Amino acid sequence: MAELLVGPLRSVGGASGQDARELNRRSVLHAVASGAAITRADLARLTGLTRPTISSLVEELAQEGLIVETGPGPSAGGKRPTLLAIDGAARQVIAIDVSSDVVVGGLSDLVGGPGVVESRPGAATGDALVDEIVDLISVLAARATAPIVGVGVGTPGLVHADGTILEAANLGWHDRALGAELTERTGLPVWVANDADAAALAEFAHLPEGRDGLAVVRIGAGIGAGLVLGGRPYRGSRAAAGEIGHLVVVPDGDPCSCGNAGCLETVASLRPVLAAAGFEFTEPPADHATLIERDGDAADAALDLAALHLGSVLAHLIAIVDVADVVLSVEIAGVGEVLAERVQRVVTDRLLPTLTQDVRVRAATDADRVVLDGAHALVLASALGMVRS
Ligand SMILES: [Zn+2]
Repeated sequence: MAELLVGPLRSVGGASGQDARELNRRSVLHAVASGAAITRADLARLTGLTRPTISSLVEELAQEGLIVETGPGPSAGGKRPTLLAIDGAARQVIAIDVSSDVVVGGLSDLVGGPGVVESRPGAATGDALVDEIVDLISVLAARATAPIVGVGVGTPGLVHADGTILEAANLGWHDRALGAELTERTGLPVWVANDADAAALAEFAHLPEGRDGLAVVRIGAGIGAGLVLGGRPYRGSRAAAGEIGHLVVVPDGDPCSCGNAGCLETVASLRPVLAAAGFEFTEPPADHATLIERDGDAADAALDLAALHLGSVLAHLIAIVDVADVVLSVEIAGVGEVLAERVQRVVTDRLLPTLTQDVRVRAATDADRVVLDGAHALVLASALGMVRS
């Protein structure tokens, strides 16, 4: 898998002894979690730490149950070295997704996957929504079978790296220190990220070796993108990187919820597509086949228009930051695939051939779970310095 840089991979000078040891621990966990069969000698080479330091850290992590020895590896001439791996069952993680019309929570081990999933109606906003999240975390924590590393939350809105929601208008949260509030009420460490930023962390785990950046575009009632650039999550200077939904793409176009007119959301979010296809936004079809059942031509034309404007905006993004992997996350099954194919064509038409050669636009690996998986990855990256293998 691709390598996500969540902390320094080499030991640092200048830090206090304790800080340096914590950074070194994270480097070791990060390297072991990268998926490949790894030995102590590999760890020394990858982290730049000495063999005795590696041995001591590995012993500490093994005692905590985080790392296990999985057997002998291939010999490089002498004695066969011992392979190391993360013990996925040693800890558990709680992930919360508040980006759709239900609040979904998951409890899983370090490796992730389905685990225990619970949901709540999610009709509430403001204080009531926070109460609902606290309740969901408590229910999941009560079912844990191993120590919980922490809680990750993926939410719409502008989210500061410290877990403060700067603005999530639809949820009734403004300048709310959600991370600190949830930590205080649940007694667990909590990390919060914008839903598209969380989705980008989840999809990053699916990038092939050698690809170090991607944009994940979430398309629902609104449109927002999460970015990983050069192996690092990129949020921008005001936590607003990837906020492409209110870019005006049709001058004097339809009015938008933001007060402006002709924003990308007025032509490429699910609202205009569903309206054209004859569906209420609150009662969307289950999949693409159902979407085109009522008025296939109109639905298809709306998807074409959405792809045209999405493709145009994404071509700009690709030209500006040179990101080669674009993932479209749409909650209606099959629509992401249809849009991805059309967006790929638009992007290819609008960029220098040398820039588009290896640009890949595709649908999310699992759009239903992508925010939950991202919230899980957020905890692993933040708490342990590791990403899923
Ligand atoms: Zn707008």
